[in-house]
Amino acid sequence: MARPSPLDVYALLDKSNCGDCGYDTCMAFATDLLERKIRLEDCTHLMQDKKQQKNLRKLKEITTPPQKPVRIGVGERQVIIGGEEVLMRHQLTYYNPTGIFVEVADDQEDLIDVVKYLTDLKIERMGEALTLDGIALRCVSQNGDSYKDAAKKVVQNTDLPVMLCCLEPEFLIGAAEEIKDKNPALYAATKDTWEKVGTFAVQNNLPIVATSSDLDELMGLSATLQKLGSDKIILDAGTFFGPGNLSITYDNIIQLRIAGIDKENVNAGLPIMGVPAAYWTQTENIKDDNDIWRHKYQEIIMGSIMESIDTSLIVVHTGQKKEDIWALLALMTLRQSIFSDPRVYPAVDPGVYEIGEPGPNAPIFVTSNYRLTKIPVEIDVKGADLDAYLLVVDSEGIGIESAVAGGQFSAGAIAEATKEFKVFDKVDHRILIIPGMAARLSGALEDEADAYVLVGPRDSSGIGSYIKKKWKPEEYMKEYAER
Ligand code: SF4
Repeated sequence: MARPSPLDVYALLDKSNCGDCGYDTCMAFATDLLERKIRLEDCTHLMQDKKQQKNLRKLKEITTPPQKPVRIGVGERQVIIGGEEVLMRHQLTYYNPTGIFVEVADDQEDLIDVVKYLTDLKIERMGEALTLDGIALRCVSQNGDSYKDAAKKVVQNTDLPVMLCCLEPEFLIGAAEEIKDKNPALYAATKDTWEKVGTFAVQNNLPIVATSSDLDELMGLSATLQKLGSDKIILDAGTFFGPGNLSITYDNIIQLRIAGIDKENVNAGLPIMGVPAAYWTQTENIKDDNDIWRHKYQEIIMGSIMESIDTSLIVVHTGQKKEDIWALLALMTLRQSIFSDPRVYPAVDPGVYEIGEPGPNAPIFVTSNYRLTKIPVEIDVKGADLDAYLLVVDSEGIGIESAVAGGQFSAGAIAEATKEFKVFDKVDHRILIIPGMAARLSGALEDEADAYVLVGPRDSSGIGSYIKKKWKPEEYMKEYAER
């Protein structure tokens, strides 16, 4: 089905522009609905007016993406997986980043400590807080009571969504019964257990994972669970390591995505998960620490591959321990890059930013308003323990090198920014430090901004040592006065 336009959505709305949803017009509501910033339920007319029921049904139909979204967990940290409309990010955008779940075992002694650590884990990168999305609780004890207890302990110590992973249906249902108000995902329904696990999931409106390494069987399971009444199904076609198996794992995910998103096959149009953690059950040759490290890398490489093909959710084992932070950092960083919106230029607002407590002699660094330039420069200035001003020039969100070539980061634009943001009113000098990549602007900038211009390092990581060696404002101002 072709993507609906805002006009298609508008045609089915009340068109009264009543403003109950917080928007001035129904058209504005329609536009943001398609961007998934709001939900249909936010239109009071659609929800309360019985005459609108037909339109509500039609709107649900046209705004449901070919790959249905599934929510796991409750509250602020609930995660939405799947729900994508395109195979390739550049065709539109991806809406829901790969959910990263870390596996813990119900019988591990440090279970609570690990759960708390994973819950609190937060890494700042490029102005965003990177966090995990869930805990996958494996039933290793093979004891129903122990598994149930562990599930209760986990939800008492985390607000992260939980996936219960147990192939013994009685144990799985027993634990799920205890924590069902937290909307856990149930892993898994197989060809042998679908009826028991599926019925419980439907009765309690819980997400459920259908698993089979045979794609035909997986599609059959999906169809059967849907017939049973489930509309929160996640697909798992298995994760396999070793020669030849990587391509099988990769192909299965790609085939499911094509069938679901491109061909609109309703049995495949569901979130897809992968389990890089399965590596540890498929390897026997662990002789020493070197083997362990090698295996950890293999697992995280698989996780990265899965993220790169928009797998909706992954479960990893490595990352439970603080020493393995590198693994989660790699996955979260890659995810941040893959799931940035290609339609939005990563720009920040132009202006003067204060770093630390800059006084009248503080240096003024000039940079572009490309987010991935401004933020690293800011981090490097802070890291060098400097008090400074950062003059961020509107370069249309383009990085320094390209913006200098394209004319967006020019002597004129910088001079204009000094006036607009009155940066020289904040200091007792007229010195600007421009990036090394913009060195060729220095002469023209001195004239246009009536300033003394210093050319800084090409890479902002050199700012600390640069300032130590070069920052002599009185000397420069003497030279400026003698001109
Ligand atoms: S609540 Fe509904 S009818 Fe009212 S402005 Fe919003 S979209 Fe339009």
